[in-house]
Amino acid sequence: MKTETIINNQGEILFFGLEHFLEDIANGDCCFICGAKPNSKPFNDEHVIPDWILRKFNLHTKFITLPNGTRFKYGQYKVPCCKECNSSLGKYYEEPIRDLLCKPYEEILKELDDDFIRFIFKWLCLIFIKTHLKDKSLLYERDRRIDTGYISNHYPWEDMHHIHCIARSHYTGAKMDQYSFGSIIVVPTIQHESIEDFDYMDNEPAKCVMLRLGHICIIAILDDAGAGSGFFNSTLNRIKGPLTPPQLKEIFSHFCFINLNLKVRPIFRSKITNKENYEIVSEIPDLVFLFKETEQISSPGEILRKYLEQTTGYFKDNTEVLKGVEDGRMGFLFDENGDFINYLADE
Ligand SMILES: [Zn+2]
Repeated sequence: MKTETIINNQGEILFFGLEHFLEDIANGDCCFICGAKPNSKPFNDEHVIPDWILRKFNLHTKFITLPNGTRFKYGQYKVPCCKECNSSLGKYYEEPIRDLLCKPYEEILKELDDDFIRFIFKWLCLIFIKTHLKDKSLLYERDRRIDTGYISNHYPWEDMHHIHCIARSHYTGAKMDQYSFGSIIVVPTIQHESIEDFDYMDNEPAKCVMLRLGHICIIAILDDAGAGSGFFNSTLNRIKGPLTPPQLKEIFSHFCFINLNLKVRPIFRSKITNKENYEIVSEIPDLVFLFKETEQISSPGEILRKYLEQTTGYFKDNTEVLKGVEDGRMGFLFDENGDFINYLADE
C-alpha cells in the first residue's frame, strides 16, 4: 500500500510515506529522525548502542560481530543523524534512561511505573531500528565480488516502518494507544566475573530485543500488542531471583516463538488529522491465539538452541544438552518439579 509523506505546518516530516522511508532512510543516508539530507545541515551521526552504555561498559574499542560476520568497533558503529536530532535524542531518551538504569535494581523497580516502562519500550524501538538501518551499509556477502546487495534488501522493511514511527515519536509528538506498546519485561541478572556485563541481541523476524546491562536485563517484543506478556505471564511469575545468560535467552526464545506464531496479528496505523495531531493506533484481534502445533514456525527449544550454539564455551559443543534444549526436555529456568532454578542460591 502506498502511503504519502505528511509534512506539518512547520515544514517538519510528521510521517514518512513508505516509499519515502525506503528511499531516504532504509536505503538512503538522510537523518533517520528528521529526514534532513546529508549536506543540508551539520551531521555527527548517532551511536547504534548509546554512548553512555559504551562508556559504562568500556565498549568503545571492543568489537561487535554482525550477522554477516563483519566485525565493527562499537565506537564507530553509527547511523546517519543530524547534530540537532542527535542532541535531542540524548536529552530526551539517553539522560533519563541512563540515570534510572544505573541505579540498584530495587530502586529501578520503585521508579519504574507504567509511563517509564513505556518510555523504555520506545527507546528499545529506537535501538532496534538503528541496528537494522546500520546493516544497509554492509554488504550481505562480505566478498564484494558476489553481488547480493545489502543486508537491508533482505528485510521486510514495511514491518520496520511501524517501529521507525515509534522510534521517532518524540520528534513527531505521536501519541500511542495502549496496544501500540508491545510486551516488555525488566528482570534482575546474576553478575559474575565469568559473565560479560553487556549483551545486546535482537531477532529481526520476531521483532524481539534483549538488552543486558550489568545487573538488569530488558526483554521486549516490539509489535505484538502485548500478546507475549499475556501468554508468558504465569511463567514470569514463577521466576524468583536474578537470572543467568542462558535463562535470559530462554525467556527471549519464548518471546520470539510467541510473536512468530500469533495466528492473527495486530495491525498498526498512523492517524494524522490537520497535519498536526498524530496518533499511532492499533487494531487487535478479539482473541489472541497461536498457530496449532502442526503449523507452528519453529519451537522455543529450537530457537534457544540456535542462540546457545552462538555462544562460546560450555554449550557450543555439548550436543547432548543442545539436543535436550531443542526437544524441550531441558531448560534453564525451572527444574523437573517446575520450581525456579536459582543459581545464586546454589553457589
Ligand atoms: Zn535530524
